[in-house]
Amino acid sequence: MKNLKNALLLKQLYQLKQLGYRYTSVNIFTEKEPDLTLPNTLELLEKQAKECHLCVLSKTREKVVFGEGNPSARLMFVGDFPSNSDDSTGKVFTGRAGELLTKMIENVLGLKRSDVYITNVLKCKALDSQNPSPTHAHTCHPYLLKEIALVKPDIIVTLGQMAAKYLSEDDSPLSEVRGTVYEKEGFKVISTYHPTHLLRNPSAKKDVFEDLKKVKSLLL
Ligand code: SF4
Repeated sequence: MKNLKNALLLKQLYQLKQLGYRYTSVNIFTEKEPDLTLPNTLELLEKQAKECHLCVLSKTREKVVFGEGNPSARLMFVGDFPSNSDDSTGKVFTGRAGELLTKMIENVLGLKRSDVYITNVLKCKALDSQNPSPTHAHTCHPYLLKEIALVKPDIIVTLGQMAAKYLSEDDSPLSEVRGTVYEKEGFKVISTYHPTHLLRNPSAKKDVFEDLKKVKSLLL
């Protein structure tokens, strides 16, 4: 929430600077400070995210990609950021990576895709998919935290390095932390590779299979 507040404050300061202000007291914001509380339903949270311009990714995205799935899911998947295909459709985990994720859910976990909730850390496509900006992720993070608070999953599976870092709070390379179960307040986090990584490196599928078997046993 603090990041959201700071980003908004910075935006207001830039606007004042463009209008010619050289100095301003912070007091002017206290009276008109907007309500930064995020909504308490997924529908309203999605609506707010779809109108979000808090970071520069709002200028380059085609569509905001919000999470979808069972709003009371015991299992939540969190990827890094929307793909090109997600960006153009506005749907989460579409294209080949999305198909692979669906197969992982159905074939390894024995669940339907509609049984789980799927989202990303970033709700807009990253500028550089090889090197997504931590600043943008930091700004967008409150939306993910609110999704988690509303869905209340028992287990979160992170897909990719960025999601692992934000939810396990461990900066170590994904190859070292994957498969480790982190106990968080109210839920467990287990990290594994992103389906896009598996499309490029099929040999990593056996690692993901092991991680998902662990997830299955945690769901019992
Ligand atoms: S990435 Fe997140 S914070 Fe940035 S514009 Fe999109 S929804 Fe807003």
